[in-house]
Amino acid sequence: MEIGPMQNFVYFVGDQDTREVLVVDPAWDVDAILKKAADEGYKIKGALITHTHFDHVNGLEDLLKKTDGAVYINKNEAEFLKGMKGNIKKIEGGDKLKIGQAEITFLHTPGHTPGSQCFLVEQNLISGDTLFINACGRCDLPGGDPEEMYRSLTQLASLDESTILYPGHNYAEEPTSTIGNEKRFNPYLQTTNLNDFLKYRMGY
Ligand SMILES: [Zn+2]
Repeated sequence: MEIGPMQNFVYFVGDQDTREVLVVDPAWDVDAILKKAADEGYKIKGALITHTHFDHVNGLEDLLKKTDGAVYINKNEAEFLKGMKGNIKKIEGGDKLKIGQAEITFLHTPGHTPGSQCFLVEQNLISGDTLFINACGRCDLPGGDPEEMYRSLTQLASLDESTILYPGHNYAEEPTSTIGNEKRFNPYLQTTNLNDFLKYRMGY
C-alpha cells in the first residue's frame, strides 16, 4: 500500500495460507496498516526494516505497541533503534527467515545507509531506498556511500532478470518493475565500472 506524504510503499510479506505476515517499513499511518491487515485476515508477526530513515520507521513504535512481534534490522543500523522496546533481531546479509512457508533472504545493500537491506522472497525483491524504478537511492545523506551503492546495485543486478522489483517509494509511473527492465533502462545500472558510476552519480 502507498502511504504518507513521501509516497512510501508499505508491504506485507508472508504466507497466504497461514496469513502470518511481517510489515515492511511501518510508517505514517499505523491504523491504516492494521486495518488493511484486518481486512485481509493477516496476523502481524513483526516488522522488516529496509533502513532507519524517518519516513520508513516512524510507525514502528506504534506498530509494536499494537501488535507484538520481532523487528528485523541489519546489524549495521540497529543502533538507531536503541532504547526502543521490543524484540530487535540484528540481521546479516545472507540470513534467512521463514514466515509460514515463505522464506525471506536478507541482502545487505549499503550505499543509501550503512545498514540498508533488501528482502528477496522467491522471485520478488523489496528494495527499500537502494534501487528504484529508473533511479537509485541518494548517497549524499549521512552514512551514504556511492562506492557501496555501486557494489550493492551490482549485487541486485545479478539476480534473475524476471525478479519483480518492489521499491520503497512510488516515484515512477508503475509501482513495480523487474530486474531485467531495470538492467535495460535504469541509468544507474548502465555504468560498467565504479569510476563511471561515481561520475554519473555525482552529476545528479
Ligand atoms: Zn531513505
